[in-house]
Amino acid sequence: MRSRFKPWAADLIDSHPEVVIPNPEEKKGKWQEVFGNKNPLHIEAGTGKGRFITGMAKANQDINYIGIELFDSVIVTALETVLEEENGIPNLRLLKVNAKKIAEYFEKGEVDRLYLNFSDPWPKTRHAKRRLTHESFLKLYQAVLPEKGEIHFKTDNRKLFEYSLTSISEYGMLLTDVSLDLHDNEPEWNIMTEYEEKFSKKGQPIYRLEAQF
Ligand code: SAM
Repeated sequence: MRSRFKPWAADLIDSHPEVVIPNPEEKKGKWQEVFGNKNPLHIEAGTGKGRFITGMAKANQDINYIGIELFDSVIVTALETVLEEENGIPNLRLLKVNAKKIAEYFEKGEVDRLYLNFSDPWPKTRHAKRRLTHESFLKLYQAVLPEKGEIHFKTDNRKLFEYSLTSISEYGMLLTDVSLDLHDNEPEWNIMTEYEEKFSKKGQPIYRLEAQF
């Protein structure tokens, strides 16, 4: 996600360790303690500015959420959304880390569902391993989700969607829901991401799938 360089972002992030958790490897197996409850945990890899994960956390207060994002300049917007709320968003935490290290932060079965929204498409074949639905990433997700754990994926990118349908099926996962135009009769539970709003406004179809290990 492109964003202006924000030299102040790192300081703001560092001053809110209660939201953007430093050293998340120390919390592995202890996320229920972090949230102070035993509610299910849903995570989003590649959260960007956090519109989806903050919206989901506010709408579903009996679920814990964690947004994972590589860059200060975008995750800081998610942090600002939390700070704008009078009492924060108690069921949301953020991690400024690489999703490829996910198994260092969560025990097997500690995460109940994984969201991928508008993941970078990496269109060149030689970059396929970087796609967040490449089999090497599916293996990592399987290491933190329980048996029958779910992945929910949305994208505007048809080629990435087709690639993901194949990659997920070949991995042996069960596709439980597929939509080729999510916004044609948009479900009331749908929470739009930044990219989703941008592309759907241009009239582009949004593709969505749910899959189970
Ligand atoms: N999910 C948001 C949305 O739908 O509006 C952002 C989409 S943006 C195209 C993809 C985001 O994923 C970027 O902010 C990027 O930095 C992040 N990202 C890409 N690879 C990542 C990785 N391996 N770990 C964590 N974040 C990643």
